[in-house]
Amino acid sequence: MIMSGYFKIQYVWRRLPGRYTNVMRNEAYLQKSLWKRPFHTKVTKDSSGLPVVHHSKYVCDIPANHRFPMGKFPKILLFLLRDQIITDKQVWTPDLASEELLALVHTEEYVDKFIHGKTSPEEQKRTGFSWSDGLATRCRYETGGTVLAAGIALQRGLACSTAGGTHHAFPSYGAGFCLINDLAVAAKYWMEESSQKRKVLIVDLDVHQGDGTAYIFREEPDVFTFSMHCGSNFPVRKQQSDLDVSLKDGLEDKMYLATVQAYLPSILDSFRPDLVLYDAGVDPHWDDELGKLRLTDQGLYQRDLFVIDTTVSRGIPVAAVIGGGYCNDTDRLALRHSILHRVAAQVWKKRSL
Ligand SMILES: [Zn+2]
Repeated sequence: MIMSGYFKIQYVWRRLPGRYTNVMRNEAYLQKSLWKRPFHTKVTKDSSGLPVVHHSKYVCDIPANHRFPMGKFPKILLFLLRDQIITDKQVWTPDLASEELLALVHTEEYVDKFIHGKTSPEEQKRTGFSWSDGLATRCRYETGGTVLAAGIALQRGLACSTAGGTHHAFPSYGAGFCLINDLAVAAKYWMEESSQKRKVLIVDLDVHQGDGTAYIFREEPDVFTFSMHCGSNFPVRKQQSDLDVSLKDGLEDKMYLATVQAYLPSILDSFRPDLVLYDAGVDPHWDDELGKLRLTDQGLYQRDLFVIDTTVSRGIPVAAVIGGGYCNDTDRLALRHSILHRVAAQVWKKRSL
């Protein structure tokens, strides 16, 4: 195992245990506090269970033989409802991310090109998708979903989306199936939304490095980017996160989990974030078509449980997104992604959120 990285700044902040439990968490407050923000949502929710953010437009039409498993998104929600992990009253619906929201991270020129289909064939090829209006809409709902999940997490302690984690998008271009960097948009928005600037930790455990996110926040001391990825996977040219942990091909559950356990608690205790955004990509799984690690379902379960419970137990809100996962069988893949929500529902119950 190769491990490298550095801490940008060692923070010594007074931690405020359970601070989010002290804010008003009722629906009226939440609705009011979200009212003037650049997105809206329907607030008719069951406050007793894990909030899950989903939109039917997380999915759009792409060619049938396309490698990107678009069909997984609605199936994740269907499986969660079918298996009674959540009820439909726990499902929150995001609105389309506005151009203003996207421009927090992306250049105005790129936002204009992305929304209006003006990217060149070369630019589109780099993203892995041919541009369509449906694709742009899908990405905007997905970004709205991550921003909303983070907002709910700040109020309630924990929330998950059924999409998100498009970490290869840079300010002026998209890459590797990622057109808009939803994690960066959410981090930037919620960091600056408060009168006292929030500190955001992005825990990116997708098998691919979170290169776009690392680049976007390379000079931002209030966002800490932690990426643990397979060194030989895309992208070939890595960026420098605040902490990169590069893993060798074929790593299995035990060593993988030991590595997460070796790093995460110390990052939480030194950086002391006000919010954690967790990219729970399932492409480290042995059966993944792109990833080169060898985690099992149980390994993913243990990983998600460790990340979420370790963070929530410190009184730090967590918003989780599904990240990457590649498999022709979208039933199997959606079930694998739903491990995240199953774990989150357990932690929600255990911690009485
Ligand atoms: Zn990935």
